[in-house]
Amino acid sequence: MTQLLQRFLAIGALMLAGAVAAPAQDAGPDLSALARFEPARSAIRAEGEGTLIRLGLSQPVPYRLYLLDSPPRLVLDFRVVDFTGTAPDSLLGAPGIADLRWGPFRPGWSRLVAQLDGPQEVLFAEERTNDPATTDSLITGSTTLEIHLKPVSAGDFVAHTGVPHSALWDLPQPAATDPPHRRQTGEAPLLVVLDPGHGGLDPGAETEAMSEATLTLTFARELKDHLTRAGIRVLLTREEDVFVPLETRITVARVAGADLLLSLHADALAEGEATGATVYLLDDAASDAASAKLAERHDRADLLAGVDLEGHDDEVAGVLMDLARAETQPRAVRLAQVLAGSIKTEGLKMHKHPVQSADFSVLKSPDIPSILLELGFLSSAPDRTRLNDPAWRIRMADALTTAILAWARADAAEARLLRQ
Ligand SMILES: [Zn+2]
Repeated sequence: MTQLLQRFLAIGALMLAGAVAAPAQDAGPDLSALARFEPARSAIRAEGEGTLIRLGLSQPVPYRLYLLDSPPRLVLDFRVVDFTGTAPDSLLGAPGIADLRWGPFRPGWSRLVAQLDGPQEVLFAEERTNDPATTDSLITGSTTLEIHLKPVSAGDFVAHTGVPHSALWDLPQPAATDPPHRRQTGEAPLLVVLDPGHGGLDPGAETEAMSEATLTLTFARELKDHLTRAGIRVLLTREEDVFVPLETRITVARVAGADLLLSLHADALAEGEATGATVYLLDDAASDAASAKLAERHDRADLLAGVDLEGHDDEVAGVLMDLARAETQPRAVRLAQVLAGSIKTEGLKMHKHPVQSADFSVLKSPDIPSILLELGFLSSAPDRTRLNDPAWRIRMADALTTAILAWARADAAEARLLRQ
């Protein structure tokens, strides 16, 4: 079975297990066939020399699995599985699995990522639909997906890692040869890409009542309304609760030819570290330890969501892009200053250092001024109250709209001057 599985992984085939799995070609989203995760029939436990992951599902689903390195991870993609009501942590505890997360990944698909505590191989993976008349109380029910892992040497592990490629699953890649986007001159409507942070299996910061992913999407929709009414075109990097890799967020903005990108967040930091809105610029050197922690956490969430960053180095490198970068950064700095000024003028709570910098991957478009805005911090009780208040969010959306209009006017005037 191991050899067979390895061959599957090597050729990158979509694994369709069980007798009733649908062919891959017509595996479009079918929410009527939503499979539910059944925690009572699910467990992770030591088995032999390794670890057994058993997932109880209300019905069979097409799935694929593969391994990724740095850190070692097992990625399991399947047709929509509803995990509502169960925290991944509740399955942790057995040796072999260091961390677990799951949730919506792309429309119609869910993902489970198990971070392994070392290099392991998949001994077998099997999805079976049980006879309801079975007497085994542990596995009575509809479908069980079992994955047996066993530690291997680092060399053996690396030989079997990598994202299998298939047209059904692959995300579009940015074109390496796209010329830099021409800066706006005020002649066409401004195009703003709003990036609601996190989503899907990466909820971001969480409290009992709300998640950062939900909050940023809510606010992005509200801000979109404000901007649209001011005559600005708006595109969101995600319209629902799905995972979008950081690189794809940049690609969405570049493909659309955005005039600016505003990434929206409301992270959590240790008590006392952060309160109030904070405007972030890209910089290799973070303003302080908290800023560095935020940037690291966002990249780590991408990694733990099972995104393979290998071979995705700067796809848009080159002299033209270096020139674009040199022109873009001062424009981003002015945008940050105008945004912070407008939020302050509106009388909204700001961080004691309102403009900061850190190495945020989502801000790395060479030719699009990009800003990350922490609307507030979910770790701060006063911030939570404000973020939850629709009236406060309206004032924030107003302040941002005013700032973007003011920046765009000055930016366009400068562009016209430079062109002469
Ligand atoms: Zn965040």
